[in-house]
Amino acid sequence: MKFGGTSVADPDAIDRLLAIVRRQIDIGARPPVVVVSALSGVTDALIEVARLAEAGDAGPAASALHALRDRHVRVAVAATTESESTVVAAVCAEFDELIGLVHALAVLREVSPRSLDAVVATGEVLSSRIVAAAMADHGIPSAWIDARTVLVTDAEHAAASPEMIETCERAREHVAPVMDAGRVAVLGGFIGATAAGVTTTLGRGGSDYSASIFGACLGASEIQIWTDVDGMLTADPRVVPEPRLVPQLSFAEASELAYFGAKVLHPSTILPAVGKNIPVRILNARRPENRGTVITADGHPVSGELTAIACKRNVTVIDITSTRMLMAHGFLRRLFEVFERFKTAVDVVTTSEISVSVTVDDTRRLDAIVDNLRNFAQVSYEPEMAIISAVGENLRSDPMLFARAVTSLERIPLRLVSQAAGRRNITFVLRDADVADAMRRLHETFFERTVAAGSAGLSGPRRRP
Ligand code: ASP
Ligand code: MG
Repeated sequence: MKFGGTSVADPDAIDRLLAIVRRQIDIGARPPVVVVSALSGVTDALIEVARLAEAGDAGPAASALHALRDRHVRVAVAATTESESTVVAAVCAEFDELIGLVHALAVLREVSPRSLDAVVATGEVLSSRIVAAAMADHGIPSAWIDARTVLVTDAEHAAASPEMIETCERAREHVAPVMDAGRVAVLGGFIGATAAGVTTTLGRGGSDYSASIFGACLGASEIQIWTDVDGMLTADPRVVPEPRLVPQLSFAEASELAYFGAKVLHPSTILPAVGKNIPVRILNARRPENRGTVITADGHPVSGELTAIACKRNVTVIDITSTRMLMAHGFLRRLFEVFERFKTAVDVVTTSEISVSVTVDDTRRLDAIVDNLRNFAQVSYEPEMAIISAVGENLRSDPMLFARAVTSLERIPLRLVSQAAGRRNITFVLRDADVADAMRRLHETFFERTVAAGSAGLSGPRRRP
């Protein structure tokens, strides 16, 4: 069970966490392992402290740390009873060490990636200590485990990768016995250490990754990501008024959607779990009775429809035309070499015999790219475009879904249309000004209509015989 920053933000959030864990203990065969993020906002605040230190602003850095210490002490006091003095002492000891470290960094005016990791890791050390103590004081047998003694990583600071074999050995050695003894092991997410014991972090949002790594190592039956939303939605609520909850989806679908900004979690962070066929469930800590969204390796679709739609706004379409391309080889290589040279990622690609169209969202080097392409082709480009991606495993088996998607967009000019080899998504490129309208029409067609016998119009739901 992983609880994000908002789910440990204050004493009320910790109360909700305790209730959720207690319920899990009642229904589960084994006690859960709990992984927590830093209290919300703390990682950002610690990064800011490090920035102040690097600028030599020792005073402001110290006052920011004092404010953080006070907040943690307040939460610890409110969340604990018997262990209050022990946990407050532990919190203060962590801060004494951190204040000393930051002072030294401010004197040197130098914060290496390694030092930065040491600073930011404190957030998860603190939150996990507080939560472990709160559990114990509320009748949930628990044990705090320093995640840095379990999660072994390489030395790529701020973006460390787990050494899975070592980590799993240590999880069996340190975490499994706690579970076997009927206690809830509580660990900080996001943090680890190299084999030599130097503190590292997995990258922002890394607590999901930690949960997935520990779950994979311990053979969890399910990994629960407790957060502040109900799960994945069928569309971005800023664009579509009433999106629905996606009850279940495949890992590949989640990856396609995340790419287009439908980000509840970063799919790569759940890879260790999905690789072991462990379902990952996203749940709302404020509405624990909801089922949430479950992501599985294959994710058999629930209905015969699409799973979700997502969009990426403000992209530029570049059209590259050359009659030299006709029946020639090597043209695409030359073309993409230009994008590579200017380190610009291409999102959508469509081709015909003499032209290629691509979309880019980073236009910082657009002029140079266009100049270079003009050495061997005619080039034009159009800004203020957008990409819509309709995602669903069912697209692989039901060709009518494609037809219905296109039909629902009638009269909206489509600039590019593509369906790639995975066939789990259809991609439309259109004017950014048309995005909201197009998203609403697609959403209405696939998520808001109920099949009424005999009433299916041209764009209504249809089944193949
Ligand atoms: N506290 C870290 C962050 O804010 C890790 C996490 O929350 O997952 O990035
Ligand atoms: Mg966070």
